[in-house]
Amino acid sequence: MTRPLIAANWKMNGDLALAEAVIAGLAEGGGGGVDVLLCPPFVYLREVARMARQAKVDGLMVGAQNLDYHAHGAFTGEVSAAMVADAGCEYVIVGHSERRALFGESDDDVARKAQAARGAGLAAVVCVGETFAEREAGRTEAVVESQLAPLAGFFAGGGGGGGDGCDFAVAYEPVWAIGSGQSATPGDARAVHELIRRRIAARNPAAANRARVIYGGSVKPGNAAGLFAEPGIDGALVGGASLAARDFLSIIRGGYAD
Ligand code: PEP
Repeated sequence: MTRPLIAANWKMNGDLALAEAVIAGLAEGGGGGVDVLLCPPFVYLREVARMARQAKVDGLMVGAQNLDYHAHGAFTGEVSAAMVADAGCEYVIVGHSERRALFGESDDDVARKAQAARGAGLAAVVCVGETFAEREAGRTEAVVESQLAPLAGFFAGGGGGGGDGCDFAVAYEPVWAIGSGQSATPGDARAVHELIRRRIAARNPAAANRARVIYGGSVKPGNAAGLFAEPGIDGALVGGASLAARDFLSIIRGGYAD
């Protein structure tokens, strides 16, 4: 298995004190053999990247939660991929379900963002996942496939660059599990992870071997180990539980401890 990736999506939360607590905890206890990605709000990126570099923790990286796929121009309030890279980031999350639902991002927008990330030398964490209604209707696989379809060209061009030698990860995040306290079962998540890996492999077998397919949706200290024990779950994208340094460190250590 590739080295696991545990990513923190702070959303519009957190501050430099939280970054300091997490980074100090990692520096003290080590990263536990996993790659750790911190994704704070834009305004904190440069400073958190500086703090991460200074701490010299193996596998610690910083990423943005979003970007605009245009290179530059009259797009008030937006931030380009080159700007995210310039702030010291190695990663960016694209296609989070909140971006899709609240800000109207389409599957094509997400693919453009992933390509823009690559163009700027950033690795993308591409998020996909079905809503509760879609799941109830038995459409999970069809929905995830339709979200992946515009990414075919992106997957085909995938190469080195990210912490795992691949410049993207895919996060399976069932929308109904995000922030709900109810995570997917390891077995259900595994089935979708396998589907995702097959779809990447169809475009780029080498990238499918290297890319990490991670799970997101109510990952907590109490359920992380069970999820991570499942073959094909290469880590996690963590929202709520990444806002308490202790919980986030416990997920990192409890799940994939050496
Ligand atoms: C997320 O928003 O990406 C997420 C997984 O949130 P939570 O862990 O709070 O469900």
